[in-house]
This record gives sequence, structure tokens and C-alpha cells, in this order.
Amino acid sequence: MPDDKMIQCKRCDKAFSSTQKNCPHCNAPASNKLAKRLMWVLGITFLGLSAAIGWGIYQRTQEKVRTLQEIRTERRNEKILQRAMAATAFLKGRLENTASGKKTATASIDADKIQTNEDGSILCFHYRITTPDGESKAGKAVFAEMDIHNTDADWALYCSGKKLTALPEKRAESD
Ligand SMILES: [Zn+2]
Repeated sequence: MPDDKMIQCKRCDKAFSSTQKNCPHCNAPASNKLAKRLMWVLGITFLGLSAAIGWGIYQRTQEKVRTLQEIRTERRNEKILQRAMAATAFLKGRLENTASGKKTATASIDADKIQTNEDGSILCFHYRITTPDGESKAGKAVFAEMDIHNTDADWALYCSGKKLTALPEKRAESD
């Protein structure tokens, strides 16, 4: 018989026909090639699935980290913009002397030239004031430590050669 291969018993090492389910010598179950193959297939499938799931979890984690960073950056940018807006209004009021109730000049502040530090606690402004008689002059001012400073020494202390950037882009507002 061509199918009648001889196999070796795992337990007693004696040979017997592969057609027999149990060893005729010691009654140990014959090793089943199909079962072995199935175990391999299952094992490899399991490993493959584990890797796929692991990769999926890793990817999702990375996405979450990115999103958190984006949220943090967005919040920081919003804070900087809010501070810049408040400081601009404050500086304009100071330059135009509106606190006295009598506007003595018109100030224009170039928003594109405003420079900020990392968190918006230091803001460096370029402005131009025009008096009612048409006299116009440019100046610089710093908003730092919750107040306006506009001497050259202040500019040197807070702005000149410091690590500053332009204001963050305003986020497109969704309605
Ligand atoms: Zn045996």
C-alpha cells in the first residue's frame, strides 16, 4: 500500500503504520500531521493578528499624541492672540491719551509687525502716532509684566535680539 507509511511512536520509539491512530505497541496516540499543521497555521495567524492589533493601537496612540499637541498649540496661539489684542488696545489708548478723555493723537499699530515670545507675556510693537496738526512719528513699545514700556532700554531688555516670532495665524472660524 503506497499510503501506508511507517511512523515512529513518540513514546516508545517503535515504528507503526501511519494509518493507525494509536501506537499498536504502547497505545500512545499517533502524531497527527494535520493537527500539527493546523497548530502552525493557528499560531502564525495569532501572531499576525497580534502584530496587526499592536500596530493599530500604536497608530491610534500616535494620533492621540498629535491631536493633543495640536490642541495645546491651538490654545497657546489663542492665548497669544487674545493678549496681543488686549495689549494693542491698551497701547493705543496710552498713545492716544484717551484716559485723559481728550484724544491727543491717532495711533496706528501694525499687527503684522507685532512680535511675541513663547506665551505672549512679552509683546513688541511698532507704532506710528499722528498728532492733530499732522505731525507723524514712528515708535516702539513693549508690553511686558502686564504694562506698557516704551523706552529704548525696555526695548533692549525685552525685544532686541530676543527669541520672538510673529503672531500666530488666526484660526479660520467655523460658524
Ligand atoms: Zn508506542
